[in-house]
Amino acid sequence: MTGEPNGPTTALTYQATATDRPLGPALLRGLRCRCPNCGEGKLFRAYLKSVEACNVCGEEIHHHRADDLPPYLTVFIVGHLIVALFMAADEMVRMSMWAHLAIWVPLTILLSLALLQPLKGATIALQWSLRLGGFGGEKDPLE
Ligand SMILES: [Zn+2]
Repeated sequence: MTGEPNGPTTALTYQATATDRPLGPALLRGLRCRCPNCGEGKLFRAYLKSVEACNVCGEEIHHHRADDLPPYLTVFIVGHLIVALFMAADEMVRMSMWAHLAIWVPLTILLSLALLQPLKGATIALQWSLRLGGFGGEKDPLE
């Protein structure tokens, strides 16, 4: 009769997600490598190893499935930035290929290493906010 069989459920689900776990603050906390729930506890116990649970609020983090998204985002951002900077520098300054290699290769490596952890934190926060994987409260079928 309504024409939208899942309309009310979808609206309730979106409202619950928007109020319980707002995406914007969660992403900012994840980018700062902090717990997406409280923003206080550390999200990583090593460079890319996430904690089992937040040491401040107890939110379980272990069931995230960041997988390949953080490296993909890192390559996407660094690639576009470095290629644009390389092309701009090549137009403005005359340098040898060795000089370009000496500048852009280390910059690419450093920028990739600097972005990978925050982007993994943001990916975990995205999954937490959207209740993906085990963050929805149900048993993760991959565990
Ligand atoms: Zn926390």
